[in-house]
Amino acid sequence: MEKLTHYPMVIGDKLVSSGSEDLLEPATSKLFATVALGTKEEVDRAVVVAKEAQVKWAALSYGERSVALLKFADALEAKSEELARLESQNAGKPLKLTVGGDIPFAIDNLRYFASVVRRQEGAAAGNYVGGYTSMIRREPIGVIGAITPWNYPFMMAIWKLGPALASGNAVVIKPAPNTPVTTIELAKIALESGFPAGLINVVTGGAEVGEAICTHPDIRMISFTGSTRTGRRIAELASPMVKRVTLELGGKAPFVVFADADIEAAARGAIPASYMNTGQDCTAATRIYVHNEVFDSFLSRFTELTQTLKVGHPFDETTDIGPLVSETQRLKVSGYVEEAKQQGIKVATGGMLPEGEGYYYPPTILVEAPQAANCVQGEIFGPVIVVNRFSDEAEAIKLANDIPYGLAGSVWTTNVQRAMRVSAAMQCGTVWVNDHLPICSEMPHGGFKQSGIGKDMSYYALEEYTIVKHIMFDITGDQKKAWHSVVFDA
Ligand code: NAD
Repeated sequence: MEKLTHYPMVIGDKLVSSGSEDLLEPATSKLFATVALGTKEEVDRAVVVAKEAQVKWAALSYGERSVALLKFADALEAKSEELARLESQNAGKPLKLTVGGDIPFAIDNLRYFASVVRRQEGAAAGNYVGGYTSMIRREPIGVIGAITPWNYPFMMAIWKLGPALASGNAVVIKPAPNTPVTTIELAKIALESGFPAGLINVVTGGAEVGEAICTHPDIRMISFTGSTRTGRRIAELASPMVKRVTLELGGKAPFVVFADADIEAAARGAIPASYMNTGQDCTAATRIYVHNEVFDSFLSRFTELTQTLKVGHPFDETTDIGPLVSETQRLKVSGYVEEAKQQGIKVATGGMLPEGEGYYYPPTILVEAPQAANCVQGEIFGPVIVVNRFSDEAEAIKLANDIPYGLAGSVWTTNVQRAMRVSAAMQCGTVWVNDHLPICSEMPHGGFKQSGIGKDMSYYALEEYTIVKHIMFDITGDQKKAWHSVVFDA
C-alpha cells in the first residue's frame, strides 16, 4: 500500500510531526493523508520562537520587509500549481477555482501588502501644541494568533499573514483541522525561500489549540475567520486580557433584482454569485429578492442556467461545482433543504442527497420561502439558494437588511439613483452594483452586524495589525514650561 503523506506542524525552523489526525478527500470520502495534531505545548513553543523572531523582524525597514515578502510571494507562485492541486484535493474545490482564483489572488494579496506597507498613512507630524511637535507611529502589535476556516484555507491564511507580517508582527496560525495542508506547505515554502524562521508558525488542531491561542498571554491579537458562533467564543476568550480581535464571520448575502435590471445579466451573475466554491462562501448570494414584475422570468432563466452546471470531481476541468468539504457539512446543507420541504417551500431544482462516494450536493433553488424560515435566516453554506419576491424599493431594503448578518450584498438595476440609494441603505460591508462577488486586494472586506469586526485586505487591514502611538517632542528645550505654571508654581 502507498505510504500516506504526513503533514507536520511548522514551529520556527522545525517541522514537528507529533500526533496524527486523518485527512479525508471530499471528492471520494477516502483517507488521503494524515496531519500532526498540536496541543497547548506546541502553542507555547511557537509563541516563544515567534516573540524572538518578531523583535528582529520589526527592526527591519519597511523596504527590507517588503523585499522578503515579495521573495516569499515569488516562491509561492513558483509552486502555485502544486498548491492549487493540494487545495483542491484537501478542500474539494474545483481546480478551475484554485488555479484561476484562490492561489493567484492570495499571492496578489501578499504582494499588495509587501508594497503598501512602504507608504504609511496618518496624521501629519506637526505642532499641535505650541513648543511641541507631535507625530504618529504605527507599531506592530507583536505576536498575532490567526485562526482560519476550511472554505478558503490558503487564501484566508494569506489574508492574515500579509498585513500582519508586513506590519512587523509574527504569527502563530491554526488552520481548520480538516484543511491544513496548504497552510503547512506555505510555511515550508517561506522557510525554503529564506523568509526568517519563527515569523510563520503553524500549529494544527481544533478548538483546543484555538483556545490555547486565544488565551495565551503573549499573543496580543486574535485574527479570526470562521462562524459567528465561534467568533463569539473567541471574543469571550480574548476579553479578560483585553486582546485586540478581528472577526470575519458568517454571511447571508442578499441579491436584489429590480424590474429595470438587465434580467439576463442578473440571472447569469447569480450563477457564480450563488455557487462559487459550492456555495461555501461567506459573501455568496444566498437570498435572491426579485421584483414581482420580473420574478417569473428571472426564476425560470436562473433555474435553467443552474441546471446546466456540472457537478463533478474537482480535478475534472469541466467541473463547475465540486463536493462539499465534509459529510458533516453535507448533512447540514441537506438538513436545511429537508426542513424547507417539510415547511411546504417549493424546490425549483436540486434538493436530493445523491448516492455514491464523495460529499456531493446538487445546486438547489428554494422558492418563496417565508422571511423567517431557517433557509432564509440561517447560513446554509452550500449550493442552496432562496429566490423570493418583493413589490417596491422600501420592501426590498427591509428584506435585504432583515437578518443578523451584514457581510455583503448586491443591487441589480439600470437606474443610477436607485443604485445609489439602495447600496447606501444596505447594512453590509460590501455592496456590488450589477455584479456580485468580485473582490480586490486594494479594497476592504469585512462585516457589519454579526458578520464581524474589522477588515481584511486593503490599507484598513494594516490598521488592524498595527497600534497607533503618539510621540510628543518638546522642541523648545525650555525647562520652565508655560503649562506647568497652570497647576504648579515651581
Ligand atoms: P468555524 O467557526 O467552525 O471554525 C473556524 C476556525 O475556528 C477553525 O480553525 C476551528 O478549528 C476554530 N475553532 C473552532 N472552535 C474554536 C474555539 N472554541 N476557539 C478557537 N478556535 C476555534 O468555521 P468553519 O466552519 O471552519 O468556516 C465556515 C465559516 O467561516 C462560515 O460561517 C463562513 O461564513 C465563515 N467565513 C467568513 C469569512 C469572512 O471573511 N467573513 C470568510 C470565510 C469564511
